[in-house]
Amino acid sequence: MMEGKMGKCEKCASETWSVVERLGTLETWRCESCGQEETVHVFDPANEPQLPVNLEPVCRIVGRWISRPSTQQMSEIQASFPALRNVPISTLLHKAIAQSDIELGRFTESEMRNLRPLLHRLGLTATETPIAVKPHDYHRMA
Ligand SMILES: [Zn+2]
Repeated sequence: MMEGKMGKCEKCASETWSVVERLGTLETWRCESCGQEETVHVFDPANEPQLPVNLEPVCRIVGRWISRPSTQQMSEIQASFPALRNVPISTLLHKAIAQSDIELGRFTESEMRNLRPLLHRLGLTATETPIAVKPHDYHRMA
């Protein structure tokens, strides 16, 4: 089990965590007691015995449609962002009409460089909020 490896929650000192998101080298865990979320940069100590020194900045991305998206744009955003894979198209459409926030996930700076043109093409404005990320040295599970 990996749960214990996250250590204690800073808020409530619980040690029970579950993974809420796994994207690239980033994993986000949620404390099962208080809901505190923590994003970690995962690396494999077998291949990288040293802690990576220059961890890339990470942002939480929230998108918003400012005009009504096409069906094509809606299915493309779903295909591009794992966080939206299980969100029904009807929910996406509702959010688009209401111009409400859509959580797209957490991405590193280099991932965002590739995502910005895509977001633009999909007609989304995106808000990037930097978040604190800690290095985390356990073997990633496939
Ligand atoms: Zn907690």
